[in-house]
Amino acid sequence: MSKKAIIIGITTNLMRIDTGSFFGRERAFVGRDYVNGVSAAGGVPILLPVIFDRPSMREQIDLVDGLILSGGQDVVPSLYGEEPSHLLESTYPERDAYEIEMARLAYERQIPIFGICRGLQLLNVAFGGTLYQDLSQHSKPQLQHSQKSQPHVGTHTVEVNAKTKLFKMVKQKTIQANSFHHQAVKGLAPGFIVNAKTKDDLIEGIEKEGSSFVLGVQWHPELMHETCSVAASLFQGFVNHCNSYGAKS
Ligand code: MN
Repeated sequence: MSKKAIIIGITTNLMRIDTGSFFGRERAFVGRDYVNGVSAAGGVPILLPVIFDRPSMREQIDLVDGLILSGGQDVVPSLYGEEPSHLLESTYPERDAYEIEMARLAYERQIPIFGICRGLQLLNVAFGGTLYQDLSQHSKPQLQHSQKSQPHVGTHTVEVNAKTKLFKMVKQKTIQANSFHHQAVKGLAPGFIVNAKTKDDLIEGIEKEGSSFVLGVQWHPELMHETCSVAASLFQGFVNHCNSYGAKS
C-alpha cells in the first residue's frame, strides 16, 4: 500500500542580506519554481537547509521519499581534482559537502534523486566524474547555453537517448530546453550513461544505470513546467518514481 503523501526534499541555497535591518544575516532559500513544480506533480515539497552534522542529515533523509538537488553555484573543482580556472565563478563549499553526503545517503537507501542544473553537475562529481569549469574549455563550437530569452522559453534542442529512464519520462527524442549554465559534464561518473545531448555535443542529461533512480538534467524544467508539458512530465515522472519508493519503505 502506498503512502498518502509523497514527500520531496529540495536542497537550498544561502543568501547574505546586503541591505536593511538584517544586513549581513543569511537566509536559506530556493527558487519557488522548484516548490511549484513538485506541488503540480502531486508531491509534497519540503526545503532542506544546508547543515553540518551527519546524524541530522540522516534524519533529513529519513523524512523524504525523493531528493531534488537544485541549481546554484559552481562545484568546487578540487572535488574532482582540479585547480580553479580563472573562469570559475562563485562556489559554496559547505553546500557541496552537504549535497554529496545527502546524495550518498539517498543512494544507499535507494531514494530517487533528481539533479537540476548544478544538481546534475553535483551528482556527476559526487559519483566520481569531472566538469568543464567553463564551456569555453569544450572543443566544439558552442550554442547559446546562457540564453538571453525569458527563463521559461526552450531555446536549444536536446536529443534524448531512447534507451533511458529520461526517455520513459518525456517520451520524445528531441525536446526544446532552456539553458542557463556555463559549466557542463566533462568526464562522466562511472556507472552513469548520457541520456541527453545538444547538437554541439554537450552533455545535457545523465542517469545511473540499473534499477536505482539517480538522474540529472542540465536545463531548468522548474522554470518551464507551467507552459511546457515535457518539463511537467519530468516532475511527474520523478514523483511517480518516489511514490514507488514510498510504497516499498
Ligand atoms: Mn544548455
